Amino acid sequence: MKGVVFLGDRKATIKDFPDPEPGFGEVLIRMKATGICGSDLHVYRRQEGREDRIPGHEPSGVIEAIGEGVERIKVGDRVCINHYRGCGHCVHCAAGYFQWCHQAKGYGGPIDGSHADFVLSDERNCVVMPESVSFTDGAFIACAGGTAYSAMRKLGASGNTTLAVFGLGPVGLSGVLMAKAMGGYVIGIDVIDERVNLAKQIGADVVINAQKEDALDVIRQVAGADGTDLAFEASGSSAGRINAVKCLRRGGKAAFVGIGNNEPVINPTEIIGRELTLMGSYVLPLQQSYDLVNFLDRRKLSFAPIVTHEFSITDGVEAYQVADESRTGKVVFTW
Ligand SMILES: [Zn+2]
Ligand SMILES: [Zn+2]
Repeated sequence: MKGVVFLGDRKATIKDFPDPEPGFGEVLIRMKATGICGSDLHVYRRQEGREDRIPGHEPSGVIEAIGEGVERIKVGDRVCINHYRGCGHCVHCAAGYFQWCHQAKGYGGPIDGSHADFVLSDERNCVVMPESVSFTDGAFIACAGGTAYSAMRKLGASGNTTLAVFGLGPVGLSGVLMAKAMGGYVIGIDVIDERVNLAKQIGADVVINAQKEDALDVIRQVAGADGTDLAFEASGSSAGRINAVKCLRRGGKAAFVGIGNNEPVINPTEIIGRELTLMGSYVLPLQQSYDLVNFLDRRKLSFAPIVTHEFSITDGVEAYQVADESRTGKVVFTW
């Protein structure tokens, strides 16, 4: 099979790998769609390369082969994958929070990921999708879309809430899409026109380019002087984090998902006086992978409008160059 590898310093190449074989409890998935995520780009941008490891953690495809002991999943099933592989036996795995497992293995880290023709998974991580849910949607459920959905569940986004979304990359755009589907009034904020326009196209009620307008001023004009009920911080920037706190009304809630910046910018006094609830959110538990498949199916929803670029795996070098510019919507590999 063909797979992408990183050579270091924003360089990638395509390599041949032997087709993997499923072991006990494992399944082999023939990829149909897999996205490039911001966290793949963090690794792509590192100085050191890693030629023995395939990146990518948003797999969706068709079961090609099953290992011994696999009972539920069948060859030919269309699946999306909850993308942390846990030990399967600890208290966190029992709750479906594989990402909390002390032995959790992330694709592209200790194990090969999905930017290849095939990927291995544990049977328990596979969620069978109805025909109405596309493979591209399956790829979103694995990370970008699943992360947004899980945060919206924590925040309690609904028709009664106003929400500010900071950072309109694929995760922020997924947040816009999910919050709108849950009935919310959504304000999208970014500094790149392409992304601001995309948020408007997929249904944001108000969009702000924070380099051209004062984001907090506009938010208070449209959501009321007290601020928004909720904030979703997907930019990972200090400015986004500061404003995600400042834009909240008294008693408001914010979920932080954007990574890659460790500058401490949040003032505890502000949280206490205004009785804010600030929370981190990281991918999604297995139950919510099932819930999100059903949510898309029943609401006839799709993440497809967020996709701006599709590539074949043999064009992986170009795909990473395009995604690295950070001006696009979602970049996906399709087969
Ligand atoms: Zn991701
Ligand atoms: Zn575990």
